[in-house]
Amino acid sequence: DLHTANKSITIIGGGPGGYSAALTAAKLGAKVTLIEKNKLGGTCLNEGCIPTKALLKCAEVNHLFKKAEMYGIESTHKKFDYAKAINFKNQVVAQIVGGVEQLIKASGIKYIQGEGRVVDTHTVAIKKDAEIIKVHSQSIIIASGAKETAIPGLETDGINIFNSSQILSSEKLPTKLVIIGGGVIGVEFASIFSSLCVDVTLIELTDRLIAAEDEDLSAAITKALMRKGVTVLLDTQVQHVDHPGQNDMVLTVITGNGDVELINCDQILVCVGRQALTSDVGLSAVNIQIDDGRVRTDKFMQTNVEGIYAIGDITQSEQLAHIAYYEARTAVQHIMGMAGEVNYKAIPHCIFSSPEIAIVGHTETSARKLIKQVGVVKYPFYCNGKAVIELETEGFVKLIYDKTSGHILGVTIIGTKATELIATYTLAINNELTVMDIVNTVHAHPTLSEALHETALMAAGLDLHVL
Ligand code: FAD
Repeated sequence: DLHTANKSITIIGGGPGGYSAALTAAKLGAKVTLIEKNKLGGTCLNEGCIPTKALLKCAEVNHLFKKAEMYGIESTHKKFDYAKAINFKNQVVAQIVGGVEQLIKASGIKYIQGEGRVVDTHTVAIKKDAEIIKVHSQSIIIASGAKETAIPGLETDGINIFNSSQILSSEKLPTKLVIIGGGVIGVEFASIFSSLCVDVTLIELTDRLIAAEDEDLSAAITKALMRKGVTVLLDTQVQHVDHPGQNDMVLTVITGNGDVELINCDQILVCVGRQALTSDVGLSAVNIQIDDGRVRTDKFMQTNVEGIYAIGDITQSEQLAHIAYYEARTAVQHIMGMAGEVNYKAIPHCIFSSPEIAIVGHTETSARKLIKQVGVVKYPFYCNGKAVIELETEGFVKLIYDKTSGHILGVTIIGTKATELIATYTLAINNELTVMDIVNTVHAHPTLSEALHETALMAAGLDLHVL
């Protein structure tokens, strides 16, 4: 009986990876110790996914006010109070972190606030105040996450020059903001602040935004941001920053063609990636293998040292909270002697920009490298009744499938609620469903998810509402 299995696990790090591993292990009957040096919930709950999306909601409501008249509401735009938006964000974080604290407490997990370090294959030493506590267990899970990468010579001060976590606690709305780094985090902040009427310049070193994704997505997001008034500078490198006055900074940048430009601003946000926290967890004490700064694991999330697992942002997979949850469950199941291994074929990627972007499975480019007979259909949201009601007709659902077998290979959605809509096709790809499986699934009317159905109807040559 797995639920009475006499297993003991020590977990370092209380982010999505660590806390969810602890909860799952406790549910399966293990004796669990969870160690967190800072705040339960980690990056995701305290300075990542949750606070950014709370602020994004504030920005969206602010934006929605501009559409109010279309809906018959005659109201003058209310003043936007950024300090109150930060307060809302803090309340959301407190509520969700509080929920995790309750769950941990109720599940019989031994929670220790302190800094953990592996000292041998079965022992973690915890620095708690002036004390060192040693915990012995059969297995250890390392889930220490990642922290912001800094730009040498451009130290963040949390006053005018911020990293992503610092800017989330600043109550001062910038007037002119320069964001350095056009990856997902930089793009999301550009979306938030431009919706709050901040003058935003987004600087990216390479020749496109969100360079890890397909080129057509980079083009779409660049266009959408520029329409919102964001200045996007690609192929551009920051040389140095002068700080002549309290709220007055001048960036010297070199553009792709070698021109030197000066940009004035009152705040700078540095978003140039996140580095795995591998240095202070005792990896070298037991010779855990690291490649390119990240811990290497097998498909059960076990490191090269038997009994020691690594999950989440510290590993070589993509740095996403839902991957941390997935890897946590996989590691715990393996420790408890249950089946299961990680498979990253159906991991949704979401960008909470406006419009939102969500991708799962293959892109058109990667599918064409895989097979010859690739089918591609694109259904625009302006043909969807609910999108018309929502005044959200921008974007499309693009379905990529195997023309021979009908199997769904990948989906990209750009448009309102894309990050919610992607779940249907994630399920489809994970279970190797075909276009006809979606065609034969009745979708409620009128909903945005009908766009998912219509896309499959298009692939089957049965579409109804394509203008
Ligand atoms: P973390 O959440 O970083 O947690 C690690 C924890 O370990 C931390 O609490 C840390 O204090 C603790 N720790 C480290 N060392 C020790 C030690 N020696 N002893 C004890 N404790 C230790 N992902 C998404 O999927 N969707 C999003 O929308 C999204 N938005 C993001 C927005 C921003 C601005 C940022 C920065 C990130 C975002 N992410 C998002 C990424 C997401 O936050 C991470 O992928 C996720 O938090 C990884 O979980 P983790 O448990 O591996 O690490």
